[in-house]
Amino acid sequence: MAYVALYRKFRPHNFRDMVGQEHITKTLKNQIKNSRVAHAYLFSGGRGSGKTTTAKILARAVNCLNPIDGEPCNECEICKQALEGSLIDISEIDAASNNGVDNIRDIREEVEFIPTSGKYRVYIIDEVHMLSTGAFNALLKTLEEPPKHVIFILATTEPQKLPVTILSRCQRFDFKRISIDDIIKRLKIICTESNIEIEDGALKIIAKMSDGAMRDAISILERCVADGSEKISEEQIRELVGIPEIDYLLGITKDILSGEAAKVLQDSENLINSGKDLDVFTWELIKFIRDLLMLQISDNLVVYKDEDKAKMQALVSNCTKERLLELITEISLLQNSMKWATDKEVIFETGLIRITMNGSLENKTANVKQNASQNVASNTSAAVAANASEKVLSEDDKNKEEVLTLLKENHKMIMHTILKNAEIKKVDEDLVHIIFSKTLDDVNKQYMQKDDSKIVIKEMVKKVFDKEMKIKYVF
Ligand SMILES: [Zn+2]
Repeated sequence: MAYVALYRKFRPHNFRDMVGQEHITKTLKNQIKNSRVAHAYLFSGGRGSGKTTTAKILARAVNCLNPIDGEPCNECEICKQALEGSLIDISEIDAASNNGVDNIRDIREEVEFIPTSGKYRVYIIDEVHMLSTGAFNALLKTLEEPPKHVIFILATTEPQKLPVTILSRCQRFDFKRISIDDIIKRLKIICTESNIEIEDGALKIIAKMSDGAMRDAISILERCVADGSEKISEEQIRELVGIPEIDYLLGITKDILSGEAAKVLQDSENLINSGKDLDVFTWELIKFIRDLLMLQISDNLVVYKDEDKAKMQALVSNCTKERLLELITEISLLQNSMKWATDKEVIFETGLIRITMNGSLENKTANVKQNASQNVASNTSAAVAANASEKVLSEDDKNKEEVLTLLKENHKMIMHTILKNAEIKKVDEDLVHIIFSKTLDDVNKQYMQKDDSKIVIKEMVKKVFDKEMKIKYVF
């Protein structure tokens, strides 16, 4: 089969062919039918979610000579020119490469002229958040009093980077990530129309890999077709997309979960020696543990080989969802502190060991508590059980454990993780010191000092000590 540019061929030309964004296309169609189009739109959403495609359809629909039910006819002279890209009333600007004030000034001068053949001059500005401050100011002047015959469609993956003054002048539409089912449906149509035979399992992998972006899904499909195969199997896709090698992730996760600090130290040394980028690795580890968690919840993890999946399953069979969640939070915090660290390797290594040891301490505590309650249950004197805990935990440690339990019960996981590495010391009848770890970074320090956080801590401490306590943070 010859190579076909599937993405271009199957780019929707009508609102009705857009996938997964009905909440947007319906509104736009109504506006066109009722001649109530706005002068400035903001399309925000992830890559491949259909922002530019929708903008192009809208640009044609407002100019089409025979619009049908709010859709462009795609057959009249104007639609044809627009589809060819030769209609000068529709301009597409990539703000990533044209981000200067001059580019926008050109537009400001241009907008004064009436459209040449259509009803509207439409400016589609892609990745608009990349504009310089000067360019934003120039654009704002135009948006403040746009001529009647001008429509701006601003598209961005990062709306939070836009000045409020711009946001407030636009009608905003948020594009959703496209669901796996919707992507599969669309891929099926494309395959049928292009005579591509494909296994359902393969479609599922493509849809999953594309992460809600139709463009990515189609480009993976395109790569398979370019391979020259007419029938695409699940196996082929796995090879093509490069299913992750997970042995090293499995190894280190196993050692962390079983609390083997010495092995984790060896693992991280091996990693550092292998020259792997530690930021990348930390991110992979977080994603991997997230996948382990997903595996506990559902079996729908298609990106792994069956044998790897079995190994993952074996790994998580002895481990709670809570522990996995906690690991994700802890490693995310570690990732944060690595970001600003001058000595990444040290932070990485000590961080992983701390996380490992925390887990094993918690296991021991849990075991002691469990033994204690079993003892009570089996009618052994409660004093024996109490002694058992006493041996392992000091008064301060017990208080800390209780605070941690309360934080967990109240889903304050960030505070939980931070306090886990802190000491809680009762220094006086009504005074508690919280001594934070030396490795606590500024972001977390600020987080703990927020009024909201302080209120939570105060409340938890009050519950544990049964009375109002003064709290002093020691950094
Ligand atoms: Zn038309």
